[in-house]
Amino acid sequence: MTIGTFEKQIIRTIRSVIAVGPDATVALHEPSFKGNEWKYIKDCIDTGWVSSVGKYVDLFERKLEQFTGAKHAVAVVNGTAALHICLLLAGVKAGDEVLVPSLSFVATANAVTYSGAIPHFADVDHHTLGLDVQKLDHYLKDIAILKHDGCYNRRTNRRIKAVVPMHTFGQPVDIESLIELVHHYKIELIEDAAESLGSYYKGKHTGLFGKMGAISFNGNKIITTGGGGAIITNDSEIAKAAKHLTTTAKIPHKWEYDHDSIGYNYRMPNINAALGCAQMEELPNFIKSKRELAKKYRSAFKNVSGVHLYTEQEWARSNYWLNVLFLGGTVSRDDLLESAANEGLMLRPIWKPLHLLSMYKECPAMELETTLILQRQIINIPSGPTLG
Ligand SMILES: *Cc1c(COP(=O)(O)O)cnc(C)c1O
Repeated sequence: MTIGTFEKQIIRTIRSVIAVGPDATVALHEPSFKGNEWKYIKDCIDTGWVSSVGKYVDLFERKLEQFTGAKHAVAVVNGTAALHICLLLAGVKAGDEVLVPSLSFVATANAVTYSGAIPHFADVDHHTLGLDVQKLDHYLKDIAILKHDGCYNRRTNRRIKAVVPMHTFGQPVDIESLIELVHHYKIELIEDAAESLGSYYKGKHTGLFGKMGAISFNGNKIITTGGGGAIITNDSEIAKAAKHLTTTAKIPHKWEYDHDSIGYNYRMPNINAALGCAQMEELPNFIKSKRELAKKYRSAFKNVSGVHLYTEQEWARSNYWLNVLFLGGTVSRDDLLESAANEGLMLRPIWKPLHLLSMYKECPAMELETTLILQRQIINIPSGPTLG
């Protein structure tokens, strides 16, 4: 395959920043285990506490609270489960609609569906890559009716119970404007903070602006527990309910098995939490390294025409989980992806917009122009915690 000069230059620039030879294989995001991971996991195995009982789950939750500033953290099996529980605890009921960005990982919409509700797709903003609040405002003026029990969609007659902004690749959305909007329309705010552990909006950690936020610790996220997630909240009642619902709604008792509702087996196992404890110790270094890497990419791409690198907003402090390169019209995205893949350099296009997925294409949606533009323009470039 012949490759254009623009594409060649992009690949060369990426390689120059991450300082690897022309043939070295580079993943998009590999986990790093250089701390106490082995020690804590060995402790689980040596003591036999690998599953639903053990000290590491509590310890991991306290570390998350300390780091994010949340009053409470509840560790669960994955980020999707965390979102599911957040939606249930926010009072989302079967037949409700929940506003979600179309430009997100499929889990955001799936969690809505698990709760019996219907995803309602909203457009995103060029500047934040997250929900376009101004556009949502205009849209709601058109379709929303306020009733005594909340906001209704006048086209479908369904209640719009919640909105789930997502902090894309660690970049915080314009959450203050969104809060104003949801207050006006009596819509619950739940943050999909799956990608934004270590990202702040005006000094406050993402995930803490609504009632609850959901974090993911999947293998490709900024820290990993193998698989895992957490709910963070400042509301003690919600935290208690989240713990209860994610531990099969069992009433605590020394020997009796009594459950007061249909709960979920969503508790994070101790062995995963052990990995998480070690990863939390390294998190500040990961963030430092990622911010450093973003800076290096930024200066290297300054002189490459036709592309630019995403930079955090002035009110944001991002974890730069995955770096984002915008491709101008002169660059062929697919040629670039293919020639990079051929030489072992992993670049990745953004997700297919959710409103185009077969199971969601009948769902309500606003006009989604920016989503469709960004979907063609954005690629992620290697961003692992050891590359910085
Ligand atoms: C990773 C991710 C999730 C889900 O997390 P899992 O732990 O994989 O279930 C949800 N939303 C977004 C935006 C994600 O990136």
